[in-house]
Amino acid sequence: MKKIYIVGLGPGGVEQATQRAVTALESSDIIVGYDVYVNLIKDSFPQKSFYSTGMRGETQRCQKAVELALSGQTVSVISSGDAGVYGMAGLICELCEAHPEIETEVVSGITAACSGAAVLGAPLMHDFCVISLSDLMTPWEKIEKRLRLAAEADLVICLYNPSSRKRADYLARACDIMLLHKSPETVCGYVKNIGREGEEYAILTLGELKNTKVDMFTTVFVGNSQTRTINGKMVTPRGYEL
Ligand code: SAH
Repeated sequence: MKKIYIVGLGPGGVEQATQRAVTALESSDIIVGYDVYVNLIKDSFPQKSFYSTGMRGETQRCQKAVELALSGQTVSVISSGDAGVYGMAGLICELCEAHPEIETEVVSGITAACSGAAVLGAPLMHDFCVISLSDLMTPWEKIEKRLRLAAEADLVICLYNPSSRKRADYLARACDIMLLHKSPETVCGYVKNIGREGEEYAILTLGELKNTKVDMFTTVFVGNSQTRTINGKMVTPRGYEL
């Protein structure tokens, strides 16, 4: 049987993965992924072969995974968080369109919105959306429109890929757009290196967030009009009567 597991690892090392993810990795001959994620789990699977490449090598890496599966090896392709949220699940399914004999199985993991929310408190108790600020594959105008409409709809907004060396001012630009419909006092938070060494978080206002520099290993949370801080935690009330 030709098989590819597409596995979400959760935010950090193997202890943050689900048991089902661990079982999938254990039953694979080879584990394929971005080198940062391979390094996070390598020591936990000393018997396995690994194939890793750097960032931006996604298509080539996934093509390699398909070749390995066609040769009869059971392959796991790993993503951080959930493989179906800006991960590798879609690309593998697309590449396997021409190879229906390969069975693909997506194994869900804890996405950064959920693991980061847990660090901050309970910011996602009500309707929320996830927007990536990366314009590598999405035109910036579309990102701006999504930010504007999400802010207008008073959604809690999680921002993935909030920054990179080339896009240092994107978070500030995103804040300007959200400020068209959200108050500068809106409660926000960010978490860096969720579940990894160097985990750090802060809770701040949208006005302050605009002047904050974050890196690409950070997830940003922008509250709705009801979000507040309770004992140092970011909380969006669900609406229960007390
Ligand atoms: N598949 C991943 C998302 C990949 S996109 C998931 O479901 O979580 C990459 C972005 O995800 C990063 O720029 C960051 O915004 C967020 N992210 C992923 N892992 C993270 C972590 N451990 N800590 C903080 N942010 C993380």
